[in-house]
Amino acid sequence: MSKIIVLMGAPGAGKGTQARLLHGRLNLPQISTGDMFRALKDAQTPLAAEVRALMEAGQLVPDDVTIRVVRERTARDDCREGYILDGYPRTPVQAAMLETLATEQDKKIQAIEIEVPRELLAQRMVGRRNCPVCGEIYNLYFKPPKFDSVCDLHPEVQLNHRSDDNLDTVQARLTTYEEQTRPLLDYYKAANLLHVVDGTREAEAIYKDIEEIVTSDGD
Ligand code: AMP
Repeated sequence: MSKIIVLMGAPGAGKGTQARLLHGRLNLPQISTGDMFRALKDAQTPLAAEVRALMEAGQLVPDDVTIRVVRERTARDDCREGYILDGYPRTPVQAAMLETLATEQDKKIQAIEIEVPRELLAQRMVGRRNCPVCGEIYNLYFKPPKFDSVCDLHPEVQLNHRSDDNLDTVQARLTTYEEQTRPLLDYYKAANLLHVVDGTREAEAIYKDIEEIVTSDGD
């Protein structure tokens, strides 16, 4: 049975980095609700304006919108053999919808928490930069690019700093996570679907653990 790999963990834990590695090496689609909402950035519609405001405030986009986006994206052909969810679910309602989706799609959910202590998260997010061309994720403190503020592979473009990675919004996002998303870990643990990996290490070491979980548990 194919899998829905759910990457869990606080903002800044490294879900995006690991989802990119899984995508590149196991060829499963990476579905990031945050990326999908960011793609609305320049749209001039009331919905896009609402999403932008919520993101800037470190709050969650409403469940009905988020669920619709995930349902549509995962219905595409490339998801047939499984997919990676990066940043979904974030509320109990979203988790319940995912169960329904898994049943409908005949897929098994596997949740992996990338565990990082809260005190490390804010610095990680404030230092985060990404390449607008290839999406590579850097960190000024932990994984700096070879040359100041440009991608190693695309030196012609400046790295991007997410507008919600400023200290005020980061604190709000961490609070939102504690209140609304962290309880889901208990839910997946109780259902025996949760694996936990130590997210304080180098990305490659974390990836090794995750790949082992993804490729060995179940079929
Ligand atoms: P991320 O890139 O995953 O950190 O998400 C950035 C922002 O997008 C979050 O702070 C939320 O405002 C919004 N967002 C992403 N995923 C979800 C989700 N599953 N439910 C609600 N809002 C989300």
